[in-house]
Amino acid sequence: MYMLDLIHKKKQGLALNEKELEFLVQGITDGSIPDYQITAWAMAVYFQRMSDEELVAFTKAVINSGQTLDLSKIKGIKVDKHSTGGIGDKTSLVFGPLAASLGLKVTKMAGRGLGVTGGTIDKLSTIPNFKYELSVTEFVKDVNKVGFSITSQTGNLVPADKKLYALRDVSDTVNSLELIAASVMSKKIAMGADIILLDVKCGSGAFVSDIKEARELANLMIKIGKAFNKKVIAVISDMNKPLGKTIGNSLEVQEAVASLNNQGPEDLKELSVSLAALALVASNKKLKLKQAKLEAIKMFDSLKPLSVFYDFIVAQGGDLEYIKNINSAKSAKYIIPIKATRDGYLSFTDNYLLGELSNVLGAGRLVKDAKIDPTAGIVLKQVEGDKIKKNQIILELHTNKIKSQHKQFQAMALETFSILAKKPKLKSLIFEIIM
Ligand code: URA
Repeated sequence: MYMLDLIHKKKQGLALNEKELEFLVQGITDGSIPDYQITAWAMAVYFQRMSDEELVAFTKAVINSGQTLDLSKIKGIKVDKHSTGGIGDKTSLVFGPLAASLGLKVTKMAGRGLGVTGGTIDKLSTIPNFKYELSVTEFVKDVNKVGFSITSQTGNLVPADKKLYALRDVSDTVNSLELIAASVMSKKIAMGADIILLDVKCGSGAFVSDIKEARELANLMIKIGKAFNKKVIAVISDMNKPLGKTIGNSLEVQEAVASLNNQGPEDLKELSVSLAALALVASNKKLKLKQAKLEAIKMFDSLKPLSVFYDFIVAQGGDLEYIKNINSAKSAKYIIPIKATRDGYLSFTDNYLLGELSNVLGAGRLVKDAKIDPTAGIVLKQVEGDKIKKNQIILELHTNKIKSQHKQFQAMALETFSILAKKPKLKSLIFEIIM
């Protein structure tokens, strides 16, 4: 079998069969297929799509590229939550301790940033000494002890996805619905949770921007889940503006801690509470969503999730004093204010560009394996729909990049929002729930 033939077949819109997909995934895993051929195939998939059968077979091959976890030593109902990628999305850091406080066992495998979207592992890597490459034994021990643990895609879990994920990131092949679905679901299935919660982001800052596409992505993932006998719930949530008021790794950890102190943004709380309520309902057939949401809100307000978060930091070797004093953590050398040029109402018009801007400020990777700047990012001083006065600060750009680049950053920042004469219609945060 030759990779060139498989690329050609896919380029013509034909489905690869099980044997071909196994060959492909094997070659991705052992490095025998060069990166340029893998990305050529990924681009062909982007344009020609995959059949449902092909998608399930591809996901299976990716799962079989490594080990699957045996989490049977974890006592209780195991929940895994995954976002398809958003800007300012630090939900896992809030949802995890909240769901654990509600008695669920949160077994989360997270990734690095992808394209313009952030990754939980990049955020956690800003915490001094925090260990995110856990062995299975360590992971199981932490979940049993704390109720919640996050590990990176380490060891031999879906190694094919790890390699492909990094290549898609830098070859503009991220937003293929099938590649996203297979990437997310291979990890979730290999992790072995009982309940898989999917947060499908939809909007200008997500890999899918319209609701029809988001629904299609959610349904593809649910189909894969069914083929592997997994309980999957998908939420489609708004990504036309960032989640919360920060974008960038240590800024987002700061905001997650503020949220756990019940001093964070409303949207982050609402999404975390809604996801935790859905997890509760999925784990207890008798519980109604409304009741579950009340329980989740009560638990959130009790601040118990904050102490679970502290336990999580300690269990994974992180510096608890750093977290407790996170508001005085080191910030970037330059903080550039971006001001409104007139009076009116704020509307974020290009969330993708905000993500891109955050990356060029230093918070993300422009090439594979580039080092990220933990302190870089963006703070939203105002939110969608706010009444604005001319010269009021809308954004703060945090960067360590040299001054000669700042003009370019400012120009980009001014393209990300408009000041409207009329208040924009505010969208609800959660568009749909598919169970
Ligand atoms: N998250 C993933 O794990 N994979 C993708 O492809 C996109 C988001």
